[in-house]
Amino acid sequence: MPLETGKTISCDVLVIGSGGAGLRAAIAAKSTGADVVMASKLNIGKTSNTYISKGVMATLGFGPAEDNIDKYIDDTLKVGRFLNDRAMVEAIARQQENETAFLQQCGAAFAMDGDKPMLLHIPGHQYPRHLVAANWRGSDIVFPLKHFAAKQGVVFEEHLFVSSILSSDGRVSGACGITTDGRFITILAPAVVLATGGYSQIFMNTNNVPGITGDGQALCYELGLPLKDMEFVQFYPTAMGRRGSRLLLNEKLLAQDGVSLKNQAGENIIKKYGFDDFLTVTRDLLAQIMMRETVKGIVVLDLTHMPSGIDKQLSHLLPASYWKGEKRFQVVPTAHFCMGGAITDDYGQTPLAGLFAAGEIAAGAHGANRLGGNSLSEIFSMGSISGSCAAVQTKTPQKPNVIKSLADNERYRIDQQFSSRGTDSDELLSNLKQVMWHKAGILRHRAHLEQALQMLENPWPDIRVRTPAELIKSLELYNMRLIATAVCKAALMRTESRGSHFRTDFSIEDNDNWLKNIIIHKTESGMTCKAQPASSVHPD
Ligand SMILES: Cc1cc2nc3c(=O)[nH]c(=O)nc-3n(C[C@H](O)[C@H](O)[C@H](O)COP(=O)(O)OP(=O)(O)OC[C@H]3O[C@@H](n4cnc5c(N)ncnc54)[C@H](O)[C@@H]3O)c2cc1C
Repeated sequence: MPLETGKTISCDVLVIGSGGAGLRAAIAAKSTGADVVMASKLNIGKTSNTYISKGVMATLGFGPAEDNIDKYIDDTLKVGRFLNDRAMVEAIARQQENETAFLQQCGAAFAMDGDKPMLLHIPGHQYPRHLVAANWRGSDIVFPLKHFAAKQGVVFEEHLFVSSILSSDGRVSGACGITTDGRFITILAPAVVLATGGYSQIFMNTNNVPGITGDGQALCYELGLPLKDMEFVQFYPTAMGRRGSRLLLNEKLLAQDGVSLKNQAGENIIKKYGFDDFLTVTRDLLAQIMMRETVKGIVVLDLTHMPSGIDKQLSHLLPASYWKGEKRFQVVPTAHFCMGGAITDDYGQTPLAGLFAAGEIAAGAHGANRLGGNSLSEIFSMGSISGSCAAVQTKTPQKPNVIKSLADNERYRIDQQFSSRGTDSDELLSNLKQVMWHKAGILRHRAHLEQALQMLENPWPDIRVRTPAELIKSLELYNMRLIATAVCKAALMRTESRGSHFRTDFSIEDNDNWLKNIIIHKTESGMTCKAQPASSVHPD
């Protein structure tokens, strides 16, 4: 069943992805007078991690007078274990305050403390410097941005899965995609902003929305562009629901007397691993403890003995069923955020002229680990910067004939995927996710990483593709296999533990040998990794 020929669209700036980074980039580009089209594989704004986030955002300008850009940068580099791109961290720090003002101007509602925004003090930051969306819901930020973009005249193309980026003469020239009802769409654009988010869906347990499958990173890789820090994935220790799909913020709850995490034998697992004080257990350490325990049996967050009155104060953190009498919640660790991705400069420009990347798709801002609230500040700051810079590129003359032949080639490649025989992609996907979780997830070891790579690199059966929906699933699976391979190769190469990357066979951080980023490249001999000294300077 070949695809139908859909429309060809021309615009000045194409933005791919409709989370916070994409919406902010589209608004910034449109504000300069550019024609902007936004393509998103599912619903605009709604099916994004920004929408389901807790809306906690680091920003300067509201906290104590002694806080400043340098201290914010120090905190970010320290948690990133000095693998961050310092120039990018500085760019984000400088832009944050403007972005907060812009979000407020758009109508984003933040929680208030009297007539001032309420400030949170998040672990790892020296000062209270976080605003939080009024109802702890990212949707309270995404909706106003979406409405602002629509009012400005940004054109939304939803349910459009982008399958390739077109480039000619060393610069970007547009993209091709497939709609869920089976039309092949070509978009001509001299500037493109990729804002497709991370790749946490390669793991069995994740709290990310569907569709966060590393497509943008895979598109960059296929263009021959480098990826960086792919081994660094942040795992959150406690989530509820099937496969850890619902984040349960634990820090405030576990800090209360009488609240504990218990295994099937009823043991307090934090004490079991030798910690008397919960406050000394970092998020990564707790994720490792949770992984060790959940492979043996269930773990519950036990709120039975939470002091009375505290529940009302912490009501925004509690699951709805708590109020119906449920006090013990089964929890599992879950893949939460990806630090690795496309390499860009501090304007969001990738090495391909006219192609930008902003938000979780891009590497650099967080290094080996991300500080709480730093993603939202990154996506709005870098979205804004890259959207404005993309709009400057729109004067480049286009070559419609060349682009048409590139699009025809892509159309041919896609049509070749249809086949009434073969294996169901869901089966292969489920296997990939399980292997990545158990062999390349929170606890990593050489032997397990090699087993995962073997599964990924050995030949796979042909996939059955009969409908547009099956086609999109199979293309996503291709991307996830590629990105999973990059994660495993980089994790295998990094023979130390740093930030969110933990090797049970190399459990120590090794600054003598590993103050380096791992760069992944497509070459004629396949996927290659090389280590390159990091740009941040370690204080010692
Ligand atoms: C449950 C949860 C809570 C969080 N809470 C916080 C918080 O409070 N503070 C904080 O700082 N961070 C938080 N984070 C992290 C933060 O939400 C994300 O890192 C951030 O929202 C990513 O924004 P983004 O715009 O880069 O990507 P996303 O918001 O994930 O958007 C990606 C977009 O790209 C689209 N897309 C992907 N592939 C394609 C394709 N091939 N074609 C077309 N479209 C495509 C997707 O459909 C989506 O619209 C949280 C994350 C989760 C999962």
